[in-house]
Amino acid sequence: MAILTAPIQALAAVWSMVVGLRVTVTNFFRPQETIHYPRQEVPPSHLDSFRGHIELVGADEDPAKARCIGCGLCAELCPSFCLKVVAEELPVDSAVCYPSQAGTDLLMPTPKFRAAPPSQTQPRKLLSYHLVYHTCSLCGLCVQNCPAGSLRFSHDVYLAGASRGRFEFDLMERLRGQAARGGAKGGKAHA
Ligand code: SF4
Ligand code: SF4
Repeated sequence: MAILTAPIQALAAVWSMVVGLRVTVTNFFRPQETIHYPRQEVPPSHLDSFRGHIELVGADEDPAKARCIGCGLCAELCPSFCLKVVAEELPVDSAVCYPSQAGTDLLMPTPKFRAAPPSQTQPRKLLSYHLVYHTCSLCGLCVQNCPAGSLRFSHDVYLAGASRGRFEFDLMERLRGQAARGGAKGGKAHA
C-alpha cells in the first residue's frame, strides 16, 4: 500500500491543479463586472439600486427648487442627527434646537407641531438644507418618510475627499447646480 501512496498523492495534486485552472480560465473569459475607473465610468443602468448620499428632488415646475414643504420630519427621524433643515415662518413656540452629534443645531418641530401629520400642515418655504454625510448611515428613513417625495439617494459613485468638510453638503446649492447642468441624476461625480 505504501508503494501506491506517492502516485495517488501526485495524481491528487495534478487534479487539484486542473480544477484550479478550469476556474481561472472560465472566469478569464467571462464578461468583466468591474470597470477601470477613471478610464471607464459606471453605466447609469447599473446605478438603480445604488445608495449615494441623499439629495433633494426638484419640483416639476422649477427643477432648481426642492419639492420640500419644510415640515422637518426628515431631520426629526434621522437617527444619526445629520440633517439640518430650516424653513421660513416657523413660529417661535413650534421650533426647538437640539444639539447634534455633528456639532450643529437641528431645527426640529416640537411635539405640538408633530401632532399634525405633515400633509395637514401649511407648506413652509425651505431656507436651507444641510447634510453632514460623514455621520449618515444611509438607513433611508428620511427618503422613505418624506411626505413630499423630496428626497432620494444620489448616484454619486465617485465621491471622494481628503477632509470631513468634503462630506458636508448644502443640498439646496447642490440642487441648483444640478438644475443648471440639466437636472440629470447620472453617475457622474458632481457633489
Ligand atoms: S421630510 Fe421632506 S418635505 Fe419634510 S423637511 Fe424633509 S425633505 Fe422637506
Ligand atoms: S439616510 Fe438615515 S442616517 Fe442618512 S440622513 Fe437619512 S435618516 Fe439620516
